[in-house]
Amino acid sequence: MPRVYMDANATTPLLPEVVEAMRPYWMERFGNASSIHQDGQQARHAIESARETLAEFLGCREAEVVFNSGGTEGDNTALFGMLSQGDHLITTSIEHSAILQTAQRLEKFGVEVTYIAPQPCGLIDPESIRAALRPNTRLISVMLANNETGVVQPVAEIGKIAHAIGAFFHIDAVQGAGKMALDVRTLGCHLLSISAHKMHGPKGVGALFVRRGTPLESLLVGGSHEHRRRAGTENVAGIVGLGKAAELAMHSLEDGTFVRVAGLRDRLEAGILKIPGTGVNGVAPQFAPEGRRENSPGQAQRSPGKAAKMDLAPRRGAVNALVEHGFGAWDGVGAPGPDFRTGESPRPVPRVANTTNLWFDHLESEALVIALDLKGIAVSGGSACASGATHPSHVLLAMGVSKARARASLRLSLLKTASEAEVDRVLEVLPEAVAKLRAISPVEAGTAG
Ligand code: PLP
Repeated sequence: MPRVYMDANATTPLLPEVVEAMRPYWMERFGNASSIHQDGQQARHAIESARETLAEFLGCREAEVVFNSGGTEGDNTALFGMLSQGDHLITTSIEHSAILQTAQRLEKFGVEVTYIAPQPCGLIDPESIRAALRPNTRLISVMLANNETGVVQPVAEIGKIAHAIGAFFHIDAVQGAGKMALDVRTLGCHLLSISAHKMHGPKGVGALFVRRGTPLESLLVGGSHEHRRRAGTENVAGIVGLGKAAELAMHSLEDGTFVRVAGLRDRLEAGILKIPGTGVNGVAPQFAPEGRRENSPGQAQRSPGKAAKMDLAPRRGAVNALVEHGFGAWDGVGAPGPDFRTGESPRPVPRVANTTNLWFDHLESEALVIALDLKGIAVSGGSACASGATHPSHVLLAMGVSKARARASLRLSLLKTASEAEVDRVLEVLPEAVAKLRAISPVEAGTAG
């Protein structure tokens, strides 16, 4: 049985077309894009052609695309490049460490930072961003899709708030890019980071959208590459790979790929929820943490069949409806479902099509990750390993999930090439693995709370 990889939010494999597009740029077309001879100009042409594709992918001008080394660099550049002592930054407590650690470093340099907590369902309330505004708020930075829960944030609404007070707006779109259509004008951002390896491109390359006129200081200084916005000889093969990955992603957004992926994710999720003592982190308030409504054997679950009844025409514009496949269309740019004040939701929270994050009472997800790995299935746990110690996910904790339940949470994130057979395999292996681990679990009954 081939291995089943359900950790796409960690990284994705290169698609064959991407490898083929990159191949010549390591050997026969190895030129430095700054050189004026033909070899250099060949490399320059490849970079500019990738830039053209990225501009289409992001809905921006070619001159607004800055190639870099990936999401971490894009996030660091956006924050370090926009903020100085006395400025105020608003971000959220569920960001990736590329934002959180940068914000903490900036605090040491005299930048004021407000970290907005999410709702229990994983959504950031735009009103709490509005309430945190100060006269010196210079930058707001909010992620598009959360890497752990897949929850898609109401960034267009937040963009409007930023514009109203003349603040700059950065979106970490590393987990949204390639899974939902992006249009930087509609999103209303000045800066937006993406990374190739989360969308079937190579590792160590990405891009930062920088809206024309945004006063961004470059992070790396040296040569005049990327119009002086990012010094360093360009990673030509990597940039070509990113361009090809973006091109393929645009096709996938149009050809129904994510309708299929969302259907697989929903079937997987519904199958796992049949296991007693499980639930989803970051869906609807009724699935919110700490047993407001836990599933028990026999209790009705979300209906995976609902998805099939929707009109999910695989058009690019319709793809954002897929961010929460099966629960009513959301245009992906306005405010999504829940009433932020009451926390009640007429429809569940939007998520990218490929991600689910589930808790399993009375076990440690680390043990489950290892058990599944031994059976040939790659997934990720709700804890991050730092210096040999496991810490429960800061994202789940910020959502109000208890430490025990965060440690008992598993993220499954499907590749866009995922198959029915892979879902079947996980549904075959997982219940048994959970039962076995629970039978020997030192985790006491009651950790659910
Ligand atoms: N932002 C988010 C939301 C991510 O998920 C990641 C990677 O996991 C990053 C930033 C960092 O991207 P990169 O691995 O390209 O540095």
